[in-house]
Amino acid sequence: MSKRYRNRTCVYCRERLSITADHVFAREFFPLMERGGLPKVPACAQCNRLKSVAEHYLTALLPFGGQHRSAAEDLVTMVPPRLDRNAKLRRTLAAGKRDIWMKTPAGVILPSMSLPLDHEKLTAWAGYVAIGLTWHHWRLLVPLDHNVAPICLSRAGEQALATLFASRTADTVSAAVGHGRFAYRGVREGNVTYWEILPMGGLMLAGDPHQPEEVSTRLGVLAGPKTLRLSSFRGAPG
Ligand SMILES: [Zn+2]
Repeated sequence: MSKRYRNRTCVYCRERLSITADHVFAREFFPLMERGGLPKVPACAQCNRLKSVAEHYLTALLPFGGQHRSAAEDLVTMVPPRLDRNAKLRRTLAAGKRDIWMKTPAGVILPSMSLPLDHEKLTAWAGYVAIGLTWHHWRLLVPLDHNVAPICLSRAGEQALATLFASRTADTVSAAVGHGRFAYRGVREGNVTYWEILPMGGLMLAGDPHQPEEVSTRLGVLAGPKTLRLSSFRGAPG
C-alpha cells in the first residue's frame, strides 16, 4: 500500500496514527467493476474496524431500498451472498419485513415493503463518511473538540441545508459515486462543515427515534463546535 496513508493522523479519531487507507464509501457497496477511484483516507486499525461493523450491516441492508439505476440488479447479485454470510441479520430482516404502501417522489402510491433499520449504525456510518470526505476534499481534519452530529434530515432540515448551499459558491463540493449509488454535497465555513448524503439514490428512511413522524431520504452531518445547534435541521421544536 502507498505510504501516503500510513503514519498519518487517522482522519476519523484524529488521535491515533493511521495504518491503512480506508475507503470512505466501502468497496463492498459497489460491483467489482465499479470500485476504481473511490475516495480513500488514512485510518487507524480501531476506526477501520468500527467503521466496517456499520458497513457490513449497511452493504447488506441499504440495497433493499435503492432507487438508483442499478438498484434491482444489486439486490439480486450483491445482497444474497452477504446475507448467506450473516444468518443473524437475515433472520432479523425476515422477522421485521412489512408490506406497506408508499408514495413515490412522483406522488404515485405503490405497494412496497419496509425493513427494520438500525438508525444508530446508519448515522454512525454517515458521521464517518462526512469526516472522511472533509479530509478527502479539503485535507481538513475535523478539530478534536468539535462535535460530529449525523442525523436523518427532516423536511425542514433538507430545506435549511438547501438554503445554505444556495447561498454559497466558494468552499462547496458535490459529487456522485458508483453511478449514483451515493451522492453528497458539502460546504465548509472555516473548519466547520455541513454535509448532505443521499444513499442509494434516495432511501425512504422512517422511524428515526428522534423524528418518528418524518420520512427522510437524506442524511445530514454537521461537524462544528459543540455550541452549534442542530434543531433547525432535525425539525425538533425549539
Ligand atoms: Zn482512528
